[in-house]
Amino acid sequence: MAESTKTMLLQPGLSYDRPEELADAVERIFTLSLAARRLGPQSCVLLKPNLLAKHPPEHAVTTHPAVVEAVVRALRRRGVERILLADSCGGLYNEGGMRAIYRVSGLTELCGRLGVELWDKTTSAPRTCAGALVHEFNLITPVHLCDFIIDLPKFKTHVMTGMTAAVKNLFGCIPGLQKAEMHMRFPDRERFGQMLCDLAGAIAPDLTILDAIVGMEGDGPAGGSPRALGLLLGGEDVWQIDLAVAALMGLDPQKVPYLAAGIRSGVCAEAFEPEMLASGSDSLKPISDWKLPGSFSSLTFSDHYPTGLRWAGPLVTKLAAPRPVIRRTDCIGCGKCAEICPGHTIQLKGGKAHIDPTGCIRCFCCHEMCPVKAIAVRRIPLFRL
Ligand code: SF4
Ligand code: SF4
Repeated sequence: MAESTKTMLLQPGLSYDRPEELADAVERIFTLSLAARRLGPQSCVLLKPNLLAKHPPEHAVTTHPAVVEAVVRALRRRGVERILLADSCGGLYNEGGMRAIYRVSGLTELCGRLGVELWDKTTSAPRTCAGALVHEFNLITPVHLCDFIIDLPKFKTHVMTGMTAAVKNLFGCIPGLQKAEMHMRFPDRERFGQMLCDLAGAIAPDLTILDAIVGMEGDGPAGGSPRALGLLLGGEDVWQIDLAVAALMGLDPQKVPYLAAGIRSGVCAEAFEPEMLASGSDSLKPISDWKLPGSFSSLTFSDHYPTGLRWAGPLVTKLAAPRPVIRRTDCIGCGKCAEICPGHTIQLKGGKAHIDPTGCIRCFCCHEMCPVKAIAVRRIPLFRL
Protein backbone atom coordinates (compact mmCIF):
# COMPACT_ATOMS: atom_id res chain seq x y z
CA MET A 1 0.00 0.00 0.00
CA ALA A 2 1.44 3.39 -1.02
CA GLU A 3 2.20 5.64 1.95
CA SER A 4 0.07 8.44 0.47
CA THR A 5 -3.07 6.26 0.51
CA LYS A 6 -2.73 5.44 4.20
CA THR A 7 -4.48 7.06 7.14
CA MET A 8 -2.82 9.40 9.60
CA LEU A 9 -4.08 9.12 13.17
CA LEU A 10 -2.80 11.75 15.56
CA GLN A 11 -3.52 11.74 19.24
CA PRO A 12 -1.11 13.92 21.12
CA GLY A 13 -4.00 15.27 23.22
CA LEU A 14 -4.95 17.82 20.58
CA SER A 15 -7.05 20.76 21.68
CA TYR A 16 -9.00 23.50 19.91
CA ASP A 17 -7.28 25.91 22.29
CA ARG A 18 -3.76 25.13 21.02
CA PRO A 19 -3.91 26.24 17.39
CA GLU A 20 -0.19 25.78 16.68
CA GLU A 21 -0.26 22.07 17.60
CA LEU A 22 -3.45 21.66 15.62
CA ALA A 23 -1.89 23.39 12.59
CA ASP A 24 1.12 21.03 12.81
CA ALA A 25 -1.17 17.99 12.93
CA VAL A 26 -3.18 19.16 9.91
CA GLU A 27 0.04 19.94 8.05
CA ARG A 28 1.23 16.36 8.60
CA ILE A 29 -1.96 15.08 6.97
CA PHE A 30 -1.49 17.41 4.00
CA THR A 31 2.15 16.33 3.65
CA LEU A 32 1.11 12.67 3.53
CA SER A 33 -1.38 13.27 0.70
CA LEU A 34 -0.27 12.86 -2.90
CA ALA A 35 -3.44 14.64 -4.08
CA ALA A 36 -2.54 17.70 -1.98
CA ARG A 37 0.58 18.16 -4.13
CA ARG A 38 -1.74 19.30 -6.96
CA LEU A 39 -2.83 22.29 -4.91
CA GLY A 40 -1.69 25.73 -6.01
CA PRO A 41 -2.90 29.24 -6.92
CA GLN A 42 -5.08 27.82 -9.72
CA SER A 43 -7.02 25.53 -7.36
CA CYS A 44 -10.62 26.03 -6.31
CA VAL A 45 -11.12 24.15 -3.05
CA LEU A 46 -14.38 23.14 -1.39
CA LEU A 47 -14.42 22.64 2.38
CA LYS A 48 -17.35 20.43 3.38
CA PRO A 49 -17.80 20.47 7.17
CA ASN A 50 -20.57 18.70 9.08
CA LEU A 51 -23.16 21.43 9.76
CA LEU A 52 -26.21 19.38 10.54
CA ALA A 53 -28.21 22.22 12.10
CA LYS A 54 -27.82 25.40 14.14
CA HIS A 55 -25.47 24.39 16.97
CA PRO A 56 -22.58 26.23 18.62
CA PRO A 57 -19.16 24.51 18.47
CA GLU A 58 -19.28 23.37 22.12
CA HIS A 59 -22.24 21.07 21.39
CA ALA A 60 -19.87 18.86 19.35
CA VAL A 61 -22.49 18.45 16.62
CA THR A 62 -20.61 20.46 13.99
CA THR A 63 -17.02 20.51 12.75
CA HIS A 64 -15.10 22.87 15.02
CA PRO A 65 -13.94 26.18 13.48
CA ALA A 66 -10.43 25.67 14.90
CA VAL A 67 -10.03 22.59 12.66
CA VAL A 68 -11.38 24.50 9.66
CA GLU A 69 -8.92 27.33 10.39
CA ALA A 70 -5.95 24.93 10.47
CA VAL A 71 -7.06 23.50 7.11
CA VAL A 72 -7.42 26.96 5.56
CA ARG A 73 -3.91 27.87 6.75
CA ALA A 74 -2.48 24.68 5.18
CA LEU A 75 -4.19 25.61 1.90
CA ARG A 76 -2.88 29.17 1.98
CA ARG A 77 0.66 27.83 2.55
CA ARG A 78 0.20 25.98 -0.75
CA GLY A 79 -0.82 29.18 -2.51
CA VAL A 80 -4.52 28.35 -2.81
CA GLU A 81 -6.49 31.56 -3.29
CA ARG A 82 -10.08 30.43 -3.87
CA ILE A 83 -11.60 28.46 -1.00
CA LEU A 84 -15.35 27.87 -0.63
CA LEU A 85 -17.03 26.50 2.45
CA ALA A 86 -20.43 24.91 1.88
CA ASP A 87 -22.94 22.52 3.35
CA SER A 88 -26.66 21.95 3.15
CA CYS A 89 -28.44 21.42 6.44
CA GLY A 90 -30.97 18.72 7.19
CA GLY A 91 -34.10 20.90 7.11
CA LEU A 92 -35.47 23.59 4.79
CA TYR A 93 -32.61 24.81 2.59
CA ASN A 94 -32.64 28.57 2.18
CA GLU A 95 -30.08 31.35 2.27
CA GLY A 96 -31.25 32.82 5.59
CA GLY A 97 -31.21 29.41 7.27
CA MET A 98 -27.71 28.60 6.04
CA ARG A 99 -26.40 32.00 7.12
CA ALA A 100 -27.77 31.39 10.61
CA ILE A 101 -26.09 27.98 10.78
CA TYR A 102 -22.76 29.40 9.60
CA ARG A 103 -22.99 32.18 12.18
CA VAL A 104 -23.86 29.97 15.15
CA SER A 105 -21.25 27.35 14.24
CA GLY A 106 -18.54 30.04 14.35
CA LEU A 107 -17.78 29.85 10.63
CA THR A 108 -19.05 33.25 9.52
CA GLU A 109 -16.48 35.02 11.68
CA LEU A 110 -13.73 32.60 10.67
CA CYS A 111 -14.42 32.79 6.93
CA GLY A 112 -14.64 36.58 7.04
CA ARG A 113 -11.28 36.79 8.82
CA LEU A 114 -9.51 34.31 6.52
CA GLY A 115 -11.05 35.34 3.18
CA VAL A 116 -12.99 32.11 2.62
CA GLU A 117 -16.19 32.30 0.54
CA LEU A 118 -19.19 31.11 2.53
CA TRP A 119 -21.66 29.48 0.17
CA ASP A 120 -25.16 30.63 1.10
CA LYS A 121 -26.84 30.02 -2.24
CA THR A 122 -29.10 27.01 -2.66
CA THR A 123 -28.48 25.97 -6.24
CA SER A 124 -27.68 22.43 -7.28
CA ALA A 125 -27.12 20.32 -10.39
CA PRO A 126 -27.17 16.63 -11.26
CA ARG A 127 -24.11 14.40 -11.46
CA THR A 128 -24.24 10.99 -13.05
CA CYS A 129 -22.29 8.12 -11.54
CA ALA A 130 -21.77 4.40 -11.84
CA GLY A 131 -23.36 3.45 -8.51
CA ALA A 132 -24.78 0.01 -7.86
CA LEU A 133 -28.12 1.55 -6.84
CA VAL A 134 -28.11 5.25 -7.78
CA HIS A 135 -26.94 6.52 -11.16
CA GLU A 136 -27.52 10.23 -10.66
CA PHE A 137 -27.35 12.53 -7.63
CA ASN A 138 -28.44 16.13 -7.37
CA LEU A 139 -25.56 17.91 -5.61
CA ILE A 140 -25.04 21.43 -4.32
CA THR A 141 -23.30 23.68 -6.84
CA PRO A 142 -19.89 24.00 -5.07
CA VAL A 143 -19.30 20.26 -5.58
CA HIS A 144 -19.41 20.96 -9.33
CA LEU A 145 -17.50 24.27 -9.16
CA CYS A 146 -14.47 23.14 -7.19
CA ASP A 147 -11.63 20.94 -8.43
CA PHE A 148 -10.47 19.81 -4.98
CA ILE A 149 -12.86 18.67 -2.24
CA ILE A 150 -11.89 18.38 1.41
CA ASP A 151 -14.31 16.39 3.56
CA LEU A 152 -14.32 17.72 7.15
CA PRO A 153 -16.50 15.34 9.17
CA LYS A 154 -17.08 15.13 12.89
CA PHE A 155 -16.54 11.97 14.95
CA LYS A 156 -20.04 11.06 16.16
CA THR A 157 -22.35 8.20 16.87
CA HIS A 158 -25.58 8.00 14.84
CA VAL A 159 -28.85 6.43 15.93
CA MET A 160 -29.62 5.04 12.47
CA THR A 161 -26.21 4.08 11.09
CA GLY A 162 -24.26 3.56 14.33
CA MET A 163 -21.66 6.17 13.40
CA THR A 164 -21.22 9.15 11.13
CA ALA A 165 -17.84 10.17 9.77
CA ALA A 166 -16.28 10.68 6.32
CA VAL A 167 -18.81 8.89 4.08
CA LYS A 168 -21.99 9.95 5.87
CA ASN A 169 -20.85 13.59 5.94
CA LEU A 170 -21.12 13.64 2.15
CA PHE A 171 -24.91 13.24 2.47
CA GLY A 172 -24.87 16.99 3.20
CA CYS A 173 -23.98 17.59 -0.47
CA ILE A 174 -27.57 16.67 -1.33
CA PRO A 175 -29.64 19.84 -1.01
CA GLY A 176 -31.92 20.34 2.01
CA LEU A 177 -35.12 18.33 2.03
CA GLN A 178 -33.99 16.22 -0.93
CA LYS A 179 -32.17 14.26 1.77
CA ALA A 180 -35.56 13.38 3.25
CA GLU A 181 -36.65 12.21 -0.22
CA MET A 182 -33.63 9.88 -0.25
CA HIS A 183 -34.80 8.41 3.05
CA MET A 184 -38.20 7.74 1.45
CA ARG A 185 -36.63 6.18 -1.65
CA PHE A 186 -34.35 3.97 0.44
CA PRO A 187 -36.16 3.40 3.74
CA ASP A 188 -34.35 0.19 4.73
CA ARG A 189 -30.87 0.42 6.22
CA GLU A 190 -29.25 -1.82 3.59
CA ARG A 191 -30.37 0.21 0.57
CA PHE A 192 -29.77 3.49 2.38
CA GLY A 193 -26.22 2.28 3.06
CA GLN A 194 -25.76 1.38 -0.62
CA MET A 195 -27.01 4.83 -1.61
CA LEU A 196 -24.38 6.43 0.66
CA CYS A 197 -21.74 4.15 -0.85
CA ASP A 198 -22.75 5.29 -4.36
CA LEU A 199 -22.72 8.91 -3.20
CA ALA A 200 -19.16 8.58 -1.90
CA GLY A 201 -18.14 7.32 -5.34
CA ALA A 202 -19.95 10.20 -7.06
CA ILE A 203 -18.28 12.91 -4.95
CA ALA A 204 -14.91 11.24 -4.35
CA PRO A 205 -13.36 13.82 -2.02
CA ASP A 206 -9.64 14.36 -2.50
CA LEU A 207 -8.78 14.58 1.17
CA THR A 208 -10.54 13.99 4.49
CA ILE A 209 -9.66 15.50 7.85
CA LEU A 210 -11.88 14.25 10.64
CA ASP A 211 -12.45 16.28 13.79
CA ALA A 212 -12.33 13.91 16.76
CA ILE A 213 -10.77 16.38 19.16
CA VAL A 214 -14.16 16.43 20.84
CA GLY A 215 -16.51 13.75 19.50
CA MET A 216 -20.06 12.79 20.35
CA GLU A 217 -21.11 9.56 22.03
CA GLY A 218 -24.54 8.23 23.00
CA ASP A 219 -27.53 9.24 20.90
CA GLY A 220 -25.72 11.16 18.15
CA PRO A 221 -25.54 12.83 15.73
CA ALA A 222 -27.19 15.68 17.67
CA GLY A 223 -28.69 14.27 20.85
CA GLY A 224 -25.62 12.64 22.39
CA SER A 225 -22.92 13.90 24.74
CA PRO A 226 -19.65 15.60 23.81
CA ARG A 227 -16.54 13.64 24.74
CA ALA A 228 -12.97 14.97 24.56
CA LEU A 229 -10.72 12.60 22.61
CA GLY A 230 -7.88 14.87 21.45
CA LEU A 231 -7.76 13.00 18.15
CA LEU A 232 -7.47 13.92 14.49
CA LEU A 233 -7.67 11.50 11.55
CA GLY A 234 -6.84 12.24 7.96
CA GLY A 235 -6.07 10.77 4.59
CA GLU A 236 -7.33 10.34 1.05
CA ASP A 237 -9.46 7.23 1.53
CA VAL A 238 -12.86 7.89 3.12
CA TRP A 239 -13.41 4.16 3.66
CA GLN A 240 -10.19 3.65 5.59
CA ILE A 241 -10.99 6.63 7.78
CA ASP A 242 -14.45 5.30 8.53
CA LEU A 243 -13.06 1.84 9.28
CA ALA A 244 -10.69 3.50 11.73
CA VAL A 245 -13.64 5.33 13.31
CA ALA A 246 -15.57 2.05 13.61
CA ALA A 247 -12.56 0.42 15.27
CA LEU A 248 -12.18 3.34 17.69
CA MET A 249 -15.88 3.12 18.59
CA GLY A 250 -15.79 -0.68 18.85
CA LEU A 251 -18.31 -1.14 16.02
CA ASP A 252 -18.32 -4.13 13.69
CA PRO A 253 -18.15 -2.60 10.16
CA GLN A 254 -20.70 -5.15 8.92
CA LYS A 255 -23.24 -3.61 11.30
CA VAL A 256 -22.74 -0.10 9.90
CA PRO A 257 -25.03 -0.11 6.83
CA TYR A 258 -22.86 2.01 4.56
CA LEU A 259 -19.63 0.23 5.52
CA ALA A 260 -21.35 -3.11 4.84
CA ALA A 261 -22.38 -1.73 1.43
CA GLY A 262 -18.80 -0.59 0.79
CA ILE A 263 -17.49 -4.05 1.70
CA ARG A 264 -20.05 -5.70 -0.61
CA SER A 265 -19.13 -3.31 -3.41
CA GLY A 266 -15.41 -3.97 -3.02
CA VAL A 267 -14.48 -0.34 -2.23
CA CYS A 268 -14.02 -0.91 1.50
CA ALA A 269 -11.83 -3.43 3.30
CA GLU A 270 -13.45 -5.73 5.87
CA ALA A 271 -11.75 -4.07 8.83
CA PHE A 272 -9.11 -1.52 9.67
CA GLU A 273 -5.66 -3.10 9.59
CA PRO A 274 -2.54 -1.73 11.33
CA GLU A 275 -0.72 -1.47 7.99
CA MET A 276 -3.28 1.16 6.90
CA LEU A 277 -1.72 3.58 9.37
CA ALA A 278 0.81 5.97 7.86
CA SER A 279 4.27 6.07 9.37
CA GLY A 280 4.38 8.55 12.22
CA SER A 281 0.77 7.81 13.21
CA ASP A 282 -0.20 7.03 16.74
CA SER A 283 -1.51 3.51 17.20
CA LEU A 284 -5.22 2.83 17.06
CA LYS A 285 -6.78 1.61 20.28
CA PRO A 286 -10.54 1.28 20.79
CA ILE A 287 -11.84 4.03 23.06
CA SER A 288 -12.67 2.56 26.44
CA ASP A 289 -16.30 2.81 27.58
CA TRP A 290 -17.41 4.47 24.35
CA LYS A 291 -21.19 4.84 24.45
CA LEU A 292 -23.03 3.77 21.31
CA PRO A 293 -26.61 4.98 20.77
CA GLY A 294 -28.87 3.36 23.35
CA SER A 295 -31.10 1.91 20.61
CA PHE A 296 -28.29 0.62 18.40
CA SER A 297 -27.58 -3.07 18.41
CA SER A 298 -24.39 -4.51 17.00
CA LEU A 299 -26.47 -7.55 16.14
CA THR A 300 -29.43 -7.93 13.84
CA PHE A 301 -32.80 -7.57 15.48
CA SER A 302 -33.67 -11.17 14.68
CA ASP A 303 -30.85 -12.35 16.95
CA HIS A 304 -32.93 -11.05 19.83
CA TYR A 305 -36.36 -12.36 19.02
CA PRO A 306 -37.90 -14.09 21.96
CA THR A 307 -37.79 -17.74 20.81
CA GLY A 308 -41.55 -18.11 20.72
CA LEU A 309 -41.91 -15.22 18.27
CA ARG A 310 -39.38 -16.24 15.60
CA TRP A 311 -42.13 -17.46 13.28
CA ALA A 312 -43.38 -13.90 12.97
CA GLY A 313 -40.21 -12.75 11.11
CA PRO A 314 -40.84 -9.39 9.35
CA LEU A 315 -43.61 -8.38 11.74
CA VAL A 316 -41.31 -8.86 14.71
CA THR A 317 -38.51 -7.02 12.92
CA LYS A 318 -40.85 -4.08 12.50
CA LEU A 319 -41.94 -4.22 16.12
CA ALA A 320 -38.39 -4.68 17.38
CA ALA A 321 -36.92 -1.76 15.44
CA PRO A 322 -36.22 1.34 17.50
CA ARG A 323 -38.66 4.21 17.01
CA PRO A 324 -38.78 7.94 17.74
CA VAL A 325 -40.75 9.00 20.79
CA ILE A 326 -41.62 12.62 21.61
CA ARG A 327 -40.88 13.74 25.17
CA ARG A 328 -43.84 16.06 25.43
CA THR A 329 -42.56 17.97 28.42
CA ASP A 330 -39.36 18.92 26.52
CA CYS A 331 -41.04 19.72 23.16
CA ILE A 332 -41.21 23.47 22.48
CA GLY A 333 -43.44 23.07 19.42
CA CYS A 334 -40.94 24.55 16.94
CA GLY A 335 -42.11 22.25 14.14
CA LYS A 336 -38.64 21.39 12.81
CA CYS A 337 -39.31 17.66 13.09
CA ALA A 338 -42.54 17.99 11.07
CA GLU A 339 -40.72 20.07 8.45
CA ILE A 340 -38.03 17.41 7.92
CA CYS A 341 -40.12 14.21 8.29
CA PRO A 342 -39.98 12.36 4.95
CA GLY A 343 -43.07 10.33 5.83
CA HIS A 344 -45.07 13.49 6.69
CA THR A 345 -46.10 11.63 9.80
CA ILE A 346 -45.52 14.33 12.42
CA GLN A 347 -48.12 16.94 13.28
CA LEU A 348 -48.23 19.68 15.88
CA LYS A 349 -51.19 19.27 18.22
CA GLY A 350 -51.72 21.69 21.07
CA GLY A 351 -48.23 23.12 20.55
CA LYS A 352 -46.54 19.72 20.83
CA ALA A 353 -45.26 17.32 18.18
CA HIS A 354 -47.16 14.08 17.64
CA ILE A 355 -45.90 11.12 15.58
CA ASP A 356 -48.29 8.80 13.75
CA PRO A 357 -46.24 5.58 13.93
CA THR A 358 -47.97 3.97 10.92
CA GLY A 359 -46.19 6.30 8.47
CA CYS A 360 -42.82 6.32 10.22
CA ILE A 361 -39.90 4.84 8.24
CA ARG A 362 -37.54 5.16 11.26
CA CYS A 363 -35.03 7.37 9.53
CA PHE A 364 -34.55 9.43 12.75
CA CYS A 365 -34.22 12.70 10.85
CA CYS A 366 -36.61 14.15 13.45
CA HIS A 367 -34.27 13.09 16.25
CA GLU A 368 -31.34 14.73 14.43
CA MET A 369 -33.12 18.01 13.85
CA CYS A 370 -34.82 18.59 17.20
CA PRO A 371 -33.01 21.57 18.76
CA VAL A 372 -33.88 20.63 22.35
CA LYS A 373 -33.36 16.83 22.37
CA ALA A 374 -37.10 16.28 22.84
CA ILE A 375 -37.16 13.14 20.66
CA ALA A 376 -35.91 9.92 22.18
CA VAL A 377 -35.14 6.71 20.30
CA ARG A 378 -36.69 3.73 22.04
CA ARG A 379 -37.57 0.09 21.64
CA ILE A 380 -40.56 -1.59 23.17
CA PRO A 381 -39.31 -3.29 26.36
CA LEU A 382 -39.71 -6.87 25.01
CA PHE A 383 -36.91 -6.23 22.48
CA ARG A 384 -34.47 -4.24 24.57
CA LEU A 385 -31.00 -5.77 24.79
S1 SF4 B 1 -41.25 10.40 12.47
FE1 SF4 B 1 -39.02 10.75 12.52
S2 SF4 B 1 -38.14 8.72 12.19
FE2 SF4 B 1 -40.29 8.61 11.55
S3 SF4 B 1 -40.26 9.07 9.33
FE3 SF4 B 1 -40.61 11.00 10.41
S4 SF4 B 1 -38.55 11.87 10.63
FE4 SF4 B 1 -38.27 9.70 10.16
S1 SF4 C 1 -40.08 17.51 19.03
FE1 SF4 C 1 -38.36 18.92 18.88
S2 SF4 C 1 -38.30 19.51 16.71
FE2 SF4 C 1 -40.31 18.60 17.09
S3 SF4 C 1 -41.64 20.36 17.56
FE3 SF4 C 1 -40.88 19.52 19.50
S4 SF4 C 1 -39.06 20.75 19.95
FE4 SF4 C 1 -39.49 21.06 17.79
